[in-house]
Amino acid sequence: MELIKGTDVVAALNAELKTKLAASSYIPQLAIIRVGEKPDDVSYERGAIKRMGTIGLRCRSYIFEESISNQAFVKEFKTINEDPDIDGILLLRPLPKHIDETAIEQIIDPSKDVDGISPYNMAKLFAGDETGFAPCTAEAVIEMLDYAHISLSGKRVTIVGRSLVVGKPLAMLCIKRNATVTICHTKTVNLADTCKQAEILIACAGRPRMLDHSYIGAQATVIDVGINMDQKNKLCGDVDLDSISQTAALATPVPGGVGTVTTSVLAKHVIQAAKRMGK
Ligand code: NAP
Repeated sequence: MELIKGTDVVAALNAELKTKLAASSYIPQLAIIRVGEKPDDVSYERGAIKRMGTIGLRCRSYIFEESISNQAFVKEFKTINEDPDIDGILLLRPLPKHIDETAIEQIIDPSKDVDGISPYNMAKLFAGDETGFAPCTAEAVIEMLDYAHISLSGKRVTIVGRSLVVGKPLAMLCIKRNATVTICHTKTVNLADTCKQAEILIACAGRPRMLDHSYIGAQATVIDVGINMDQKNKLCGDVDLDSISQTAALATPVPGGVGTVTTSVLAKHVIQAAKRMGK
């Protein structure tokens, strides 16, 4: 089994983005909006700032106290949303429970919604219209497959997970590429048999190493989106990489896989957003 390493995909994507940036005199700017100090959010923000810097994009963080009222947050959000010097917005979610996340999804300017949270961008994705923005994680999976020259056309793709952030948008991106898609979830009967039929298996269940060799078809490509902590507090994916090594042809590791590519896709979207706005 060979590995598709996130660092290789990132290097190729970043080089492409730097070339695009060099061809323009405008430097697009990303706004990262964080409420509270959740370690996952802080770490994702740090990674995104670093990646924007590496590529040469501007990036500004807007950090609010967890105790901010819904009304005050909506007001602050609208100000950032309307700032003509901001080209893309990344809102770190989930927001604290007292903040109306659905209202923010409705308010965000679709042309700046670089992580595809607005219903407008979601509708475009489901319609197969590529003028919107797909969620970065879902698109990062496609970037990894493209990098490895794995065509989706006519392939049996099984996705384990049906969230609105990962599983469902990913299914739409795969259908757009002419794959035959099966989506699995907790009510799927005979999960292992269904997964085994897949030529490309994508795991986004959020269950530490749940997919071992008994879920993998011979010579399958296995993409692991999961980011979990195991019982020893070690970062791991949804796939047991050691167990599948004699069965799968290609797989992505965790850490160092899809998660690494996500912020480069974010940068790609920020550049696209500025370009679509005529900057
Ligand atoms: P989620 O909202 O919890 O959704 C998990 C999905 O997996 C649900 O549809 C659930 O089915 C399904 N599932 C859970 N256990 C299952 C099982 N035993 N058998 C079959 N299906 C099962 O999670 P998410 O937000 O989509 O995230 C999924 C994973 O991706 C997490 O590990 C997360 O950390 C990771 N992630 C990574 C990135 C990144 O790389 N940057 C970004 C986002 C998420 P039901 O619908 O039936 O409950």
